[in-house]
Amino acid sequence: MPRTCTVCGHEDHLAIDKSLVAGESNRRIAARFNVTEQALRRHQMAGHVSAAMVRAAVETDVRHALDVVAQLKAINEAALTVLRDARAVHDGDLALKAIDRIYRQIELQAKLLGELDDRPTLNVLVAPEWLAVRSALLEALAPYPDARAAVSGRLVALEAGT
Ligand SMILES: [Zn+2]
Repeated sequence: MPRTCTVCGHEDHLAIDKSLVAGESNRRIAARFNVTEQALRRHQMAGHVSAAMVRAAVETDVRHALDVVAQLKAINEAALTVLRDARAVHDGDLALKAIDRIYRQIELQAKLLGELDDRPTLNVLVAPEWLAVRSALLEALAPYPDARAAVSGRLVALEAGT
């Protein structure tokens, strides 16, 4: 019959895991939570701590990422509002500043989304921003067929993931 882990079954097991990860000594933790040092060692050796802490860390990461995305969206909306207002009053300077900000936002978002996606390369390569850059690039190279062919070949290889 498998021995159940008294630390995992402890009502304060999350606090115990946190203390272990923080590097607190087994002796102190054992005294504080009224468990044996032996049980703490067994709990650690069985890999129970890491599994729980990794789960918690991943949850924190996802929450943080969602926060960042929400903030980016808010900044995006603000910049778009500024752009609309600037155009309404024909303030070209302000409009250009807003466009510049939105452009940088798109760059940053593409990077962040790339980090969030499991397959970042694929994600970036199908992004409308990339497709626009790609066609502008090839269009600009039209007068130089050799260079165009070389760039096009590299892009195709890149997009095929080679
Ligand atoms: Zn355990």
